[in-house]
Amino acid sequence: MKKIIVVGSGILGASAAYHLSRSDAEVTLIDAIHPGRATDAAAGIICPWLSQRRNQAWYRLAKAGARYYAELTEQLHAEGEKHTGYARVGALSLHTDPVKIEQMRERAEKRREDAPEIGEIQVLGESQVRELFPLLNEGYLAVRVSGAARVDGRALRDAMVSAARRNGAKVIEGEAALNVAEGRVTGVQVNGERLDADEVVLCAGAWSGELLRPLGLDFQVTYQKGQILHLGMRGQPDSGAWPVVIPPTDQYLLAFDDAKMVVGATHENGVELADVRVTAGGMHEVLEKGLALAPGLADGELEEVRVGFRPFTPGFLPVIGRVPGWEGLITANGLGASGLTMGPFLGSQLAKLALGLETNLPLEDYAVEKALGEK
Ligand SMILES: Cc1cc2nc3c(=O)[nH]c(=O)nc-3n(C[C@H](O)[C@H](O)[C@H](O)COP(=O)(O)OP(=O)(O)OC[C@H]3O[C@@H](n4cnc5c(N)ncnc54)[C@H](O)[C@@H]3O)c2cc1C
Repeated sequence: MKKIIVVGSGILGASAAYHLSRSDAEVTLIDAIHPGRATDAAAGIICPWLSQRRNQAWYRLAKAGARYYAELTEQLHAEGEKHTGYARVGALSLHTDPVKIEQMRERAEKRREDAPEIGEIQVLGESQVRELFPLLNEGYLAVRVSGAARVDGRALRDAMVSAARRNGAKVIEGEAALNVAEGRVTGVQVNGERLDADEVVLCAGAWSGELLRPLGLDFQVTYQKGQILHLGMRGQPDSGAWPVVIPPTDQYLLAFDDAKMVVGATHENGVELADVRVTAGGMHEVLEKGLALAPGLADGELEEVRVGFRPFTPGFLPVIGRVPGWEGLITANGLGASGLTMGPFLGSQLAKLALGLETNLPLEDYAVEKALGEK
């Protein structure tokens, strides 16, 4: 029986471990519970189709990731996981300029040609927008896409870990270091114990550079800090059905069940990985932009601020595959600002790589070499 260790239990590692646990491999999942885990802080928008990014390789992954949710959540439900945190509530992409709205509609129509999961596409006037999301400011028009969704990253990760456990995976809390011998990764060291494996699947997000340095590898993963605010709104009992809001700025707004609103986030570069502070400047930015978008949030109760590090690889394009020069080591990283969208799908592909199966997408565009600097 193949022994496989997954290091890191964010959305990516949890998905890899879950998919591996459905095979006959012996699976161990290890997580250090670092403060600043991206999956813990993520907003949860699943709506890649309206993005203006021109990189086709990125779009292919994001599209495949969004599509995969239907299959994954159905499978998890069938395995007894009731709370996947996923809800297809649709999205409102806002603008005040009717010309921009028309361009957005055209883009969405074009993308629907090979992504029918986008669902219905509708242009909404001001009053229709405020009917669907009553806290929003006046003056916004929107393109509504019905197939967009929101997901609670913590809930989905926990559902996948719980299903993996039920399927026999072992889950360990601790900081793993890679064990190597003669060009091969042989397993990990964790909590003073040596665990051997045929394959190690590294999903350590922003912390992966540190883990690979002892192997003489310059793995170029950078990160961007995000602070995101959770508010409790009184008197909005049906908020769980409200659509995700994507304004023309770099911010967003989501409503969850029980009148919870999530507003954010900051995009901070050049900070220390240990800097998980909630800052005055960060909150000023989120509140200033958030209240201009939705003045109705002013009455919200400050419940929590979450902080996470979005991991990026060069060109803002994720990498996935075997790590060159080392046997027994597979990784994926660089999920950036769309990791909840792509993570479950990429995790399933990591599992296929570790089991020697064919992947659903050709992965050459995402070769790990692209994130390795000169030694
Ligand atoms: C504020 C914010 C908002 C976001 N909003 C969205 C969104 O709306 N939609 C979307 O699609 N994406 C969103 N994202 C992006 C998404 O959250 C990330 O891309 C994704 O969660 C990255 O997942 P990951 O598993 O690679 O990393 P992480 O979730 O960071 O997981 C890495 C894990 O590795 C563990 N680890 C590290 N080193 C070790 C070690 N040595 N031993 C053991 N364990 C280790 C860590 O503890 C951690 O649990 C957002 C991110 C942020 C921060």
